[in-house]
Amino acid sequence: MGNVRFEALKKAKEHSFSNVHVNELVNERVKNYFARDVFTRAKMKEYIAEEVLKQLFDDVDNGRTIHRGIAGSVSIGIRKWAMDHGATHFTHWFQPLTGGTAEKHDAFFTLNKDGELIEELSGDSLYQQEPDASSFPNGGIRNTFEARGYSAWDPSSPVFLIGDTLCIPTVFVAYTGEALDYKTPLIRSTAVLCQAAREVCGLFDKTVKHVQVNLGWEQEYFLVDESLYMARPDLMLTGRTLMGHSSAKSQQLEDHYFGAIPQRVLAFMRDIECEALCAGVPVRMRHNEVAPNQFELAPVYEDVNLANDHNLLVMSIMERVAQRHHFRVLLHEKPFAGVNGSGKHCNWSMQTNTGVNLLAPGKNPYQNLQFVTFLVNVLMAVQRHNGLLKASIVSATNEHRLGGNEAPPAIISVFLGKQITEVLDKLEHADADKGIIINAKKEMKLGIANIPEILLDNTDRNRTSPFAFTGNRFEFRAVGSSANCGASMLALNAAVAEQLMLFKAEVEGRVANGEAKERVLFDVIRNYIIACKSIRFEGNGYSDEWKVEAAKRGLDCETSVPLIIDRYLAPETIEMFRATKVLSEAELHSRSEVKWETYVKKQQIESRMMGDLVINHVLPAAKRHQTMLLKKVLSVKQVFSADEAAMLNEMDYSIIRQIERHSAAIIKGVEAMTEARHRANRQPDERSKAIAYHDTVLPLMAEIREHADALELVVDDELWTLPKYRELMFIR
Ligand code: ADP
Ligand code: MG
Repeated sequence: MGNVRFEALKKAKEHSFSNVHVNELVNERVKNYFARDVFTRAKMKEYIAEEVLKQLFDDVDNGRTIHRGIAGSVSIGIRKWAMDHGATHFTHWFQPLTGGTAEKHDAFFTLNKDGELIEELSGDSLYQQEPDASSFPNGGIRNTFEARGYSAWDPSSPVFLIGDTLCIPTVFVAYTGEALDYKTPLIRSTAVLCQAAREVCGLFDKTVKHVQVNLGWEQEYFLVDESLYMARPDLMLTGRTLMGHSSAKSQQLEDHYFGAIPQRVLAFMRDIECEALCAGVPVRMRHNEVAPNQFELAPVYEDVNLANDHNLLVMSIMERVAQRHHFRVLLHEKPFAGVNGSGKHCNWSMQTNTGVNLLAPGKNPYQNLQFVTFLVNVLMAVQRHNGLLKASIVSATNEHRLGGNEAPPAIISVFLGKQITEVLDKLEHADADKGIIINAKKEMKLGIANIPEILLDNTDRNRTSPFAFTGNRFEFRAVGSSANCGASMLALNAAVAEQLMLFKAEVEGRVANGEAKERVLFDVIRNYIIACKSIRFEGNGYSDEWKVEAAKRGLDCETSVPLIIDRYLAPETIEMFRATKVLSEAELHSRSEVKWETYVKKQQIESRMMGDLVINHVLPAAKRHQTMLLKKVLSVKQVFSADEAAMLNEMDYSIIRQIERHSAAIIKGVEAMTEARHRANRQPDERSKAIAYHDTVLPLMAEIREHADALELVVDDELWTLPKYRELMFIR
């Protein structure tokens, strides 16, 4: 039998040179097919009666649940549109806590009492379903007597088609009402933030009726040829390589970043873009990333709930489309050690119905005071909940990306840039009595009148910051590429909402006591600037000095994922989520439980896979190579004199011993790792299991890997069966 790796390489080469799949829409104008597969408001008008739509839009726009009386007519319209466009099935599409999306398909028909087939999508099945959801994680929320989970339509996100299936975006909740997904609390958090932001806007501008929270995500990913992927059991089962010596050339030259996109990859990207655009996702930007075979995709920002649905949709489109191009897409945060990992930067902002971006400097001093108010409140929220925000982005997969020399560190801090730092410094030291004089024309002398309107200066960027102000938005960069952005966005929304509520209460309290409003605003903001200083950091987030400094400042410096998850249950977290009504204490317990459980499962799978790889792939290759050398050594001894043979065999003796040493260490390591795993599995609860995996299993995996990678360097290339880093990363 041939070497699997060489067979895979041969196929990969064929893929590289074969004709690429071209999406038939590439030469069409985007406006001809954008949102082709979405039941948009415009299309609804063709299928649903005007009075019904009026009620529906009114409910959606005001965040109310849909009036039950119109469910029937809406469902009929949806089904008719879907069937006119070739749909035969429908599914509730939801976001379980395991990550990704889940769906259960039903055909568009039932049988009537005479056994005749009728095409149907009833109001009830549109609204609500009870998926057999016992296997979705719930962290102990659903006891057996209330084991039901319900999915219910989220009408703020339009239904869409994927192939022959109508997808209905839904929330997923327990019988008792607790959220079992990411969408439910994301919607709650957005609503509470909109409300709090609108009320704070009221201090400046009474005409603001509505605030929208925006998310613009940037999805990073790797591509690997499908045949090479299939020859790497670790990639197939865990999404990352558990071993592999670094390639002689990797990203040193940084020649990949923004370089020309290879043909086959470009065809893949165009194909995803066409599909995403048909599904109404406004994807706009694509480029190479830093590491070889690493790329990025980003859309225009949208309302956070819709943007998150679109991100999840695009992730599944990418996986599907990749197969057409004989690629596999790796959404894992760290598929390859030693090169850049993948994140999903979340660009976040708030905007009013009057068209004002609350995180952008305005045209006049009053707008600038409003801008500084929101900016400083975000800083306060991030400072007060920096531990929680970190908990919202950690996972067994993102763990490998954080804290390395090329990813956001495991300490949350905020980068503001020189101009904004100066503005805040000036405000902090301004003379209150001189500073707040307001002349007859209501022009304030706050020293913030002249913030340049446009701050989007690309030179003022700090890539080492996990949370950066980028001119008109904050960019949460610590979010992982495989994550559901909902987890971090709901924490951020809720923390900022709570903060804005506190701010408003403080300002209004003092104004009610007779102080002048401008004076109070100025005063409170200045106190905040002083109070939140510890979260601001403009230096190098990768440096060791920062770790020391951050600890001194009292920021959360914990690096162990299972312990970071504890932050979900910190008293200030529970209180914040209670005050904002985003998550109850029971829901927080359930979420942290699911996080620990998922962590344990992923580590367990990786550890088992690691054992299989070294025992079934690495050691057999090493033994074969060693046997070959032993045979050679014996032959040399037969042919040459003892002295000559000793000299001729010297190098081989050394390699034979090296192989022996590494092999023995691997066998010992695997035994110890298995033992550690068993001990971890015997722990009484998920948290203790997670801690045991982190503290005892992970270090052994790292040790085993070192020996396996060392063997890769000495074993004959012909005998090595696992595709190497240079092959995985440079074939395209
Ligand atoms: P960079 O690589 O410089 O961060 P990108 O073009 O890759 O910039 O991504 C910018 C992302 O930020 C896009 O998704 C874009 O839609 C989003 N974005 C731009 N302005 C805003 C805003 N005001 N609020 C939220 N997201 C925004
Ligand atoms: Mg960015």
